[in-house]
Amino acid sequence: MAPPMNTATAIDLSLVRQQAGLLLPSRDSVNLVAEARFRLLNVLQTSLYLDDILKMFNDELNCLLRVSGMQYVNESLNIQVHHGDYEVHHCAYRLITQSNHLGEIVFYRETRFHDQELETVETLLSTLLSPVRNALLYRMALAASLTDPLTGAGNRSALINNLQRELALARRNAQHLSVLVIDIDKFKFINDTHGHGVGDLVLQELVNVITKVNRSTDMCFRFGGEEFVVLLSNTNRKGAEIIASRLCEAIADCHICTDSGSVQISVSIGAASNCETDTEESLINRADKAMYEVKRRGGNNINWL
Ligand code: GH3
Ligand code: MG
Ligand code: MG
Repeated sequence: MAPPMNTATAIDLSLVRQQAGLLLPSRDSVNLVAEARFRLLNVLQTSLYLDDILKMFNDELNCLLRVSGMQYVNESLNIQVHHGDYEVHHCAYRLITQSNHLGEIVFYRETRFHDQELETVETLLSTLLSPVRNALLYRMALAASLTDPLTGAGNRSALINNLQRELALARRNAQHLSVLVIDIDKFKFINDTHGHGVGDLVLQELVNVITKVNRSTDMCFRFGGEEFVVLLSNTNRKGAEIIASRLCEAIADCHICTDSGSVQISVSIGAASNCETDTEESLINRADKAMYEVKRRGGNNINWL
């Protein structure tokens, strides 16, 4: 079990920088820690990926003192990274700079940490703050570049990345992959009648409903204006039929409250499951074609191709 974080010591970048090197008693250990700190200062600059940075730090720390495991948690960004084993003894630190709370880090082992060892950990932690801050900024920028800002669904680039990965996985593991293309019926009429603000709200509510109906492994993307794609990994046609009809029901039950009264929508869903010869394009195109067939018949239904 991870320990409660409220017992963590705060590591402040500016303070630790001043203290680094002043805390260590023996000359040999001062040299070893100083060398490790120097190595870390260099090596931690080589990656912008949080997992890599924490692994490099953990490896270097383990050269100086034996640690069974470590855990990094950033609750506000919903990140948890873990290496090694949890043990009964631990030391915990909050990583902070003047303007940022960068998360908490805990080191575990079977025996108590002695004061000198804690000083070593704290000295080395000073090298971790800037790389962790940069990695978090990079992670947020990357997430923003793959997210539709209006609805929070993945954008088209994210769809392409995920579809490539999921189709490759499905081929390698001989699994099914199903795709739903979902288009709101007569959305232009909603914009024209209630205004673009209400139209935007409808798009957001639709993504909320899709996310609620989906399982945690399903992924939702905005394909274009009022058109969305859901990737159902490891799901055959039968499973996808169940999810698609649940979606239709949930959307029909949804009354969207707006300043100009309650708005209800319906959707047309085109669905396709992968076959051996499918490419990303052919799979999406089949689902898209199936959706347009629903439109042709008046919308508010599901169709397979
Ligand atoms: P159909 O039933 O055939 O799907 O017709 P439709 O009206 O839903 O589709 P159409 O392609 O005619 O119109 C889509 C509209 O979606 C037109 C466009 O202005 C609107 N739209 C696209 N993106 C956004 C957006 O981000 N916000 C809002 N409010 N409207 C958008
Ligand atoms: Mg439409
Ligand atoms: Mg459309």
